[in-house]
Amino acid sequence: MFEGILVRYGDLTLKGKNQKYFIRAVNELLLEKLAGLDVIFDLKHDRAYIYLQDVPYEKVVERLHYVTGVYSFSLISKCAKDLDEISQIAIKMIEMETKKVVTSFKVETKRADKNFPSTSMEISRKISVLILRQAPFLTVDVHNPEFTLNVEIRQEAAYIYTHQIKGLGGYPTPMGGKALVLLSGGIDSPVATFLAIKKGLQVECIHFESTPMTPIESAQKVIDLVKVLSKYALHNQIKVHFVPFTKIHESILQYIPEPYTITIMRRMMIRIATHLKNRRDADAIITGDSIGQVASQTLESMSCITEVTNSLIIRPLATYDKLDIMNIARNIGTLDISNRPFSDCCTIYVPISPAIRPQTKTARRYEEAFDYETLVNEAVANTVMLTVHSDDEIDLASKGFTIKEVLG
Ligand code: ATP
Ligand code: MG
Repeated sequence: MFEGILVRYGDLTLKGKNQKYFIRAVNELLLEKLAGLDVIFDLKHDRAYIYLQDVPYEKVVERLHYVTGVYSFSLISKCAKDLDEISQIAIKMIEMETKKVVTSFKVETKRADKNFPSTSMEISRKISVLILRQAPFLTVDVHNPEFTLNVEIRQEAAYIYTHQIKGLGGYPTPMGGKALVLLSGGIDSPVATFLAIKKGLQVECIHFESTPMTPIESAQKVIDLVKVLSKYALHNQIKVHFVPFTKIHESILQYIPEPYTITIMRRMMIRIATHLKNRRDADAIITGDSIGQVASQTLESMSCITEVTNSLIIRPLATYDKLDIMNIARNIGTLDISNRPFSDCCTIYVPISPAIRPQTKTARRYEEAFDYETLVNEAVANTVMLTVHSDDEIDLASKGFTIKEVLG
């Protein structure tokens, strides 16, 4: 029944050069994500047609859900530019979707072939009449129809579709620039990573790992999360920087009063992320913070943590509710991995009464207790970079105990 898919592009309110860039990038991404499927592409300036040949539409639809910058798409039927034939197909489509219950509909026609002998309005009216004649369970309602039948009269044929399936939206990567995401094994930061990719950013991840204080499985979680996330990324791959955090972690536990351990741990993370951001020529740091979720995510805490850097820090989830974040995590396939029960550096020794309103002055004073700059530089120097592809098989546990042994 369906011969093709009409793909609509996202934010075309962009102007001039940006719009051209958007369309080129989304086209490239579309070709990349659908590579290997034997379909034919017809790329237009604001949309694309994908002709299915013998490929089942479900396969194409599944892949389309990974293309950022696609606003929506529709399964289309193709037939001759003959109004009788169009109305026959239209009735079949309506019956398939409505199961013959009484439904109001309207026909909306776009006439790209200006040589076709009726105007769009006339075509819509004629098709409506033909449909009504054969399907008396239907009524026409041009203002508030339950069902819209779209007809496009093009040079080569007529196309008919009814349904718009929502795509990811956002921008095609790498349109928005490059950012480093602080990725823990939790629920939030993978969702923040996804939202950053969806907005067209090229992301690399940073994970602070404290093996052997934390189990190798927590680093494995990160790799498995990145494998899922990389399906949305350009070339299906994302680079991950594993920062050896054990020494800093131990020093914090040894020297810093308990209410400030998390604050100072975060300050160290941001310091290291700033070094890596400069090294990787990125423009921003991204975290999974959500206002008020835990003590380290009050405005006072976030200010105290942000104070250590001049970098732009973006927190895509700042205003999201946890349940909404979990829904996104479930939809993109990261929730089950995040829920695996292994602690990372932030969950292994959780302070009993963390400071909810930490003061910058106090944090700085506490930090004088140890030579953190040397440790920060050392951690940066020993950071290991791994490129994770969505198809990779990486099993850290079978290879060694510490990340350094595995990757170094
Ligand atoms: P998440 O689910 O992302 O872990 P969370 O609510 O548990 O979020 P926290 O543990 O307080 O949040 O961490 C806040 C943010 O700090 C995380 O979203 C993440 O961006 C960053 N972060 C925390 N721990 C790590 C880590 N071990 N490696 C990299 N980033 C981290
Ligand atoms: Mg966490």
